[in-house]
Amino acid sequence: MRLSRYFLPVLKETPAEAQIVSHRYMLRAGMIKQASAGIYSWLPLGFKVLRRIEQIVHEEQVRAGHIPMLMPTLQSADLWKESGRYDAYGPEMLRIRDRHDRDMLYGPTNEELITDIFRSHVTSYKDLPLTLYHIQWKFRDEIRPRFGVMRGREFLMKDGYNFDLTKEDALHAYNRHLVSYLRTYERMGLQAIPMRADSGPIGGDDTHEFLVLAETGESEVFYDSEITDLKFGDREIDYDSVEQCRAVLEEFTSRYARTDETHDEAVWADVPEDRRRVARGIEVGQIFYFGTKYSEPMGAVVTDREGNRVPVHMGSHGIGVSRLVGAIIEASHDENGIIWPEGVTPYHVGIVNLKQGDASCDAACEDLYKAFTAKGLEPLYDDREERAGAKFATMDLIGLPWRITVGPRGLKNGMVELTSRRTGESEEMTPEAAIARVAEIYAPHLPLIAG
Ligand code: ATP
Ligand code: MG
Repeated sequence: MRLSRYFLPVLKETPAEAQIVSHRYMLRAGMIKQASAGIYSWLPLGFKVLRRIEQIVHEEQVRAGHIPMLMPTLQSADLWKESGRYDAYGPEMLRIRDRHDRDMLYGPTNEELITDIFRSHVTSYKDLPLTLYHIQWKFRDEIRPRFGVMRGREFLMKDGYNFDLTKEDALHAYNRHLVSYLRTYERMGLQAIPMRADSGPIGGDDTHEFLVLAETGESEVFYDSEITDLKFGDREIDYDSVEQCRAVLEEFTSRYARTDETHDEAVWADVPEDRRRVARGIEVGQIFYFGTKYSEPMGAVVTDREGNRVPVHMGSHGIGVSRLVGAIIEASHDENGIIWPEGVTPYHVGIVNLKQGDASCDAACEDLYKAFTAKGLEPLYDDREERAGAKFATMDLIGLPWRITVGPRGLKNGMVELTSRRTGESEEMTPEAAIARVAEIYAPHLPLIAG
């Protein structure tokens, strides 16, 4: 993309309404614009990050054997009356009436809809196990929408649902989700710690929330400091293996890590004092096992091997796709702007032309642009007639992890400069070397599989 042809409405002033750094930078970097309270338009740069996050979520879901689909945002109230949640959900549910006086609602989650699809089409244990998911906009009429996309009213969520014959199988699905979530967040450059949590209106006993540590987080969390040393890394996991998934779950959940809702002083006292940490966290996902809570009242039953009709065991699993954009910024920024992890950056490399209109500078930038594009990378070329200082400030604010600076002095010796946004360190090298280096850095991050 060439900046001269892009739409990047950067703000000079810090918007007064934004209380936390991610909200401020998202507004200043021209990523979002508020449409009404808790509802945002995603401007091109913000949309690009949102799509990257969505892509990683898709890839990791498919890798774990889950099947993508799409359910609508608007739902009929009938199904919710059947499950008993129409009245239980309260004022967070946006209720709508259509022209025929039918009760509708904008889905805050999809357990009812998916259970209805399941019961209409699946009748035998032979069709199990089954895990379906979608990435779709949700609406919750939050009493206090705030912090930009972190607590919106309309927000993008990946929600998945597993259907299994037995509790044992459903617990494997639970463990498998925990493993795939660890991998998902790490690819986004985040450490998200699974913590024992409370199940809220979804219901059920087994549930973990994934929390990103950040001062601005809304949850108070208590954890054993050893947990932050754990890395999922690039280990190969067979997602069908009950033992392998359980082993990872045990490794990542055996130490104390809880939100304030489940915090237990008596158990906490057993954690060595020098390892006890009290901090704040942002919830970026949650997994549930809730057994037959929906399948029983809604008649989602299958015939088992003996020919008995039994309700299926279910769980649901959510990732806050739009909230993650803010959470990543909270975890990765400095006083000059955002610092995107390579896995989610909107553009892979910035090209700054220090002397626009100079024939050799323009030609060198064009060559770089074409070379990166040919390698499947997306450069953002600042080809505007602007001062160098302004170009650097924009690049720092929007936070591309790598920048190549092209100026007449360096070019005389055949050199350009490669700068890391994170460390600020620069290195002179030939354009060919810079292209090779950047391509190598991104090799592990390019899209892998299509759903
Ligand atoms: P919270 O406790 O933050 O209100 P929740 O536990 O009600 O969230 P879930 O039903 O577990 O949310 O939804 C799955 C994920 O969707 C959450 O982990 C979170 O990342 C995201 N999410 C939930 N509510 C919002 C919101 N209002 N704005 C943005 N993302 C949200
Ligand atoms: Mg939750």
